[in-house]
Amino acid sequence: MPLQNYQYDTIMREYSKTQSQNRRILEERTQEIYKKIPRIHEIDEEVATLSAKKARALLSGESSGLEDLKSAISLLSQERNALLVCNSYPEDYLELPYKCPVCQDTGYVGNQKCTCFKKAEIELLYTQSNLKEILKKENFDHFSFDYYSDTMKNEATGLTERETARRAYDIARSFVRNFDSSFENLFLYGDTGVGKTFLSHCIAHDLLESAHCVMYFSAFDLFELLADSKFSRDKTEGQEFVFDSDLLIID
Ligand SMILES: [Zn+2]
Repeated sequence: MPLQNYQYDTIMREYSKTQSQNRRILEERTQEIYKKIPRIHEIDEEVATLSAKKARALLSGESSGLEDLKSAISLLSQERNALLVCNSYPEDYLELPYKCPVCQDTGYVGNQKCTCFKKAEIELLYTQSNLKEILKKENFDHFSFDYYSDTMKNEATGLTERETARRAYDIARSFVRNFDSSFENLFLYGDTGVGKTFLSHCIAHDLLESAHCVMYFSAFDLFELLADSKFSRDKTEGQEFVFDSDLLIID
């Protein structure tokens, strides 16, 4: 499912925050190195002067001194790296540091979303779902049929508790499998403590993992939220999530 604009903006804001942090780190490192190894400061100034000359030469089509300029710059940068290493710094200490070197903290490689973007997307959807912590424990991997008796039968259906649970489990799995291709609502009913909430968490977990926007509310909280939106003109963030979610779970 495509992200809503405000979700996309939230993620992109994080990337610009990271980019400014990176620039700040580099700035601090540069000051630190200039103080400790003044020769590197000189080198940077020389390189800046030579690069400006090189740019002028390129613009004016004057190619005679170009090779000399290039090799002078390259020698200086070798000296710079050697100085860093001699002083026990990594060679790339004065290059922009990246949290994700693949996309250089832009979120994109070409016009494709980077894997770190997809991770951020799922992380955001989890945070907005109200389910972040509980889904670590309550998901299909932790669903156990051992809790259900295979002798006690439901009079009305003739199925044992375990068979009933198996049926609900299979339906929940197929609901997740067909989520993108068929529009269905799912109504889970039964006595208290038979696992309805757990099963709804299993569904939420798998849909969040595939980057769907899932919202979870107790009926009480949801009605309260909707009443707020009815009686006040400001749409809060929570309400926006409810209206835009791919799946709304009401417990
Ligand atoms: Zn990335």
